[in-house]
Amino acid sequence: MIAGGGFGGFYAARALERLLPAQSAHVTLVNEANFMLYTPLLPGAAGGTLDPRHVVVPLRSQLRRTDLVIGAVTGADHSQATLGVRRIDGEQLELCYDQLIIALGSVSRTLPIPGLAEHAIGLKSLPDATALRNQVLNCLDIAESVEDRARRAEYLGFVFVGAGYAGVEGLAELQDFAAQAIELYPRCRAQGMRWVLVEARPRIMQEVPDSLAQFAERELRARGIEVRTDTTLRELTARAATLSDGETIAARTLVWTAGVKPSPVVARLALPLDREGRIVADETMRVDHRAHAAPVWAIGDCAAVPDASRPGQSCPPTAQHAIRQGRLVARNVAASLAGGRARPFRYRTKGVVAELGRNQAVAITLGIRWRGLSAWLIARTYHLLLMPGLGRRLRLLADWNVALVFGRDPSSPGRLGSPTPLADE
Ligand SMILES: Cc1cc2nc3c(=O)[nH]c(=O)nc-3n(C[C@H](O)[C@H](O)[C@H](O)COP(=O)(O)OP(=O)(O)OC[C@H]3O[C@@H](n4cnc5c(N)ncnc54)[C@H](O)[C@@H]3O)c2cc1C
Repeated sequence: MIAGGGFGGFYAARALERLLPAQSAHVTLVNEANFMLYTPLLPGAAGGTLDPRHVVVPLRSQLRRTDLVIGAVTGADHSQATLGVRRIDGEQLELCYDQLIIALGSVSRTLPIPGLAEHAIGLKSLPDATALRNQVLNCLDIAESVEDRARRAEYLGFVFVGAGYAGVEGLAELQDFAAQAIELYPRCRAQGMRWVLVEARPRIMQEVPDSLAQFAERELRARGIEVRTDTTLRELTARAATLSDGETIAARTLVWTAGVKPSPVVARLALPLDREGRIVADETMRVDHRAHAAPVWAIGDCAAVPDASRPGQSCPPTAQHAIRQGRLVARNVAASLAGGRARPFRYRTKGVVAELGRNQAVAITLGIRWRGLSAWLIARTYHLLLMPGLGRRLRLLADWNVALVFGRDPSSPGRLGSPTPLADE
């Protein structure tokens, strides 16, 4: 039984399909949606270079020997070895397991900042990416018809808080998108937009070395984006963001990309948690099992797995780690079923890629640092190779090339997915 079908859960299921002989075992995957979200491409979906449907991997077409249950994990009883699941039709199920892999991922980590929960948008899910693109276009559409210059500035102000790769990539892609779209809005173009990146630490992009972070910062500043390091968000209203340096920025859009925390349901699974709320696992990814009727494993963003390359610390929340943990946990489950020994997780980050829009990126691959166009080509090739399935890769390639030739798509899908209510009048 695998709970969660993101990077960790998907790769665990795929590896189990390959490792376990047909008919020898029954693999079930429980996930909220019938697809895996390829999160590193979310900024591309928000920025209009990729169709949102093309940044996901349909689970059924990729996992032919796995039973899929689409619903939400609600709890677990490890003494009975059962997992509680609320199926999408609302029916509550109790699913039995012989081995349980928990890969429930993470959600945006918020802080108790006045107005944040009410007015900010995250960049963690497909609805977030679609909502952000709509928000940028809605702001331009409204600003274009607002007479008052100060009020118009509110709609043309965009603030991102948190300058990890999700924040930097998201801001760069959206700003690039808005810079193209604004050509269709003469009044907005005359006034200009304001884009601000706020980071609490002394520099942006902790994931890459200083020289690459500086390149990324120079690239953003050259586009007119303001980068505020050593600064935090103090307060947010519907119309403005106030920073720790006392400045109030007129903005109707604030994107919160300042870190993640484990999915809330993890706290209801009656498993040992660390200070950050992650499930404590040993180096083989096994969870303390004395009171458990059957083995439980935890991987990915929701798990605190010891990081062999940084003694005393847990693995960082990255797709690279989740994928490799997924593959290894499958081997360990197969070994456990065959009475063999589980292997410890050992992985050192081999590289990082971060796209900056406008055919620019920063990357590190096997210790070599890349920036600019070469890094951008590496980043796109990397995602193309990592995306599971030829059909999905071709969709990405088609979207990217169409955007290169014809620019980003400036249409706002708005209420797509919510049907128009049938009414008599
Ligand atoms: C915008 C963005 C860009 C990123 N870029 C990179 C990058 O370039 N490189 C990199 O290495 N990492 C990147 N990451 C981080 C990466 O996405 C995560 O580390 C990775 O997805 C973790 O994998 P996971 O399997 O633990 O969780 P996820 O991939 O989040 O999967 C968790 C799954 O569990 C499901 N789930 C959650 N709760 C429930 C429930 N109650 N019931 C049923 N299902 C549930 C979710 O729907 C999801 O399918 C990025 C993240 C974001 C947000």
